[in-house]
Amino acid sequence: MSTATAAGGATSAVALRITEIFHSIQGEADAVGWRTVFVRLTGCPLRCSWCDTTYSFTGGDKRSLDDVLATVASFQARHVCVTGGEPLAQKSCLPLLRALCDAGHEVSLETSGAMDVAEVDPRVRKVMDLKCPGSGEMGRNRWENLAHLLLHDQVKFVIADRADYDWAREQTLTHALAARCQVLYSPVADQLPPGQLADWILADRLPVRLQLQLHKVLWGNAPGR
Ligand code: SF4
Repeated sequence: MSTATAAGGATSAVALRITEIFHSIQGEADAVGWRTVFVRLTGCPLRCSWCDTTYSFTGGDKRSLDDVLATVASFQARHVCVTGGEPLAQKSCLPLLRALCDAGHEVSLETSGAMDVAEVDPRVRKVMDLKCPGSGEMGRNRWENLAHLLLHDQVKFVIADRADYDWAREQTLTHALAARCQVLYSPVADQLPPGQLADWILADRLPVRLQLQLHKVLWGNAPGR
């Protein structure tokens, strides 16, 4: 059975390439700690030096939107996180986000900041990276996206070292990011001690929120957790 979408199309006609759908505890961002269904879309045009989801770059299964929605519903969770890879690299990500909102979920989208977010449903909480120099992908930041941030969205800096921190601080202040949305600073695991990042934030009195990856505390680097 197909379902009508807000755009008037039928979800059965929409297909996505999916690496995994799993049920876990949200480890990051504003919804940290909530039981959440993760929909991981396959593929990413970036290659961040510290990427921890390289297994999502290729492969995956082609699945209809109806099938994805049914799998998500089976976990009976309010929160759904669409992630990747870079989910917006697939055009069908937009109708997926819309359909998840229409189904009554609290939806978040983890995106690299390299793709246009203008058409993302405004009910979705965007968690958008700004790539620091240490990622090797700073040149991919799509600065026009800042104009599309809403108060419930979050900008995330993943910080590998002091040079990344200094760059993140400069962007945070220059673009007045904290007035637009929440600003998250997250240390690269096994590269920057979280206590060091906390000390820098305190010393500079920055209006940002320190992030630790709760799922790695709980389960390490296991895929699908
Ligand atoms: S954007 Fe995300 S998935 Fe893509 S390479 Fe960077 S960290 Fe990995």
